[in-house]
Amino acid sequence: MSICRGAAGLRGGNPRGIFIHNDAGSQNANAAFYRKWLQTHPLENGFAHAYVASDGILYAEDDAYAAWHCGQTDGNRNYYSIEVCQSMGDLEIFKKNEENALKLAAQKCKQYGIVPNTNTIRLHKEVFATACPHRSVEIHGGHIWL
Ligand SMILES: [Zn+2]
Repeated sequence: MSICRGAAGLRGGNPRGIFIHNDAGSQNANAAFYRKWLQTHPLENGFAHAYVASDGILYAEDDAYAAWHCGQTDGNRNYYSIEVCQSMGDLEIFKKNEENALKLAAQKCKQYGIVPNTNTIRLHKEVFATACPHRSVEIHGGHIWL
């Protein structure tokens, strides 16, 4: 059983795409931290399927279930969500986490036959008034062309 126990319900199909998030967390907000944190905080406040950090990847929710990660019904129900952790910490560590997050995204694309493009690989701020994924946007140009 996953840490998040299917709290957001079954999605009823395979993920159709992937949302990338940045956690706005400190250097200490690693996978071990989120493993504990998710069990002591209300999941209604938000959670993702996977947390990618310097100490590894925490798979917090099974792929068959939705997650409350982007504040939008279609995104929550139909997309796999990846949190790039430690986004307020050391840049090189963040970039390594981001690289591993994109590897995970590629793996999920292969697994579910998702063709990676701007409709399937999404950034949180595309669908919600948020800076997330703040650091990825900051270090990769600062613009999203819709
Ligand atoms: Zn986000």
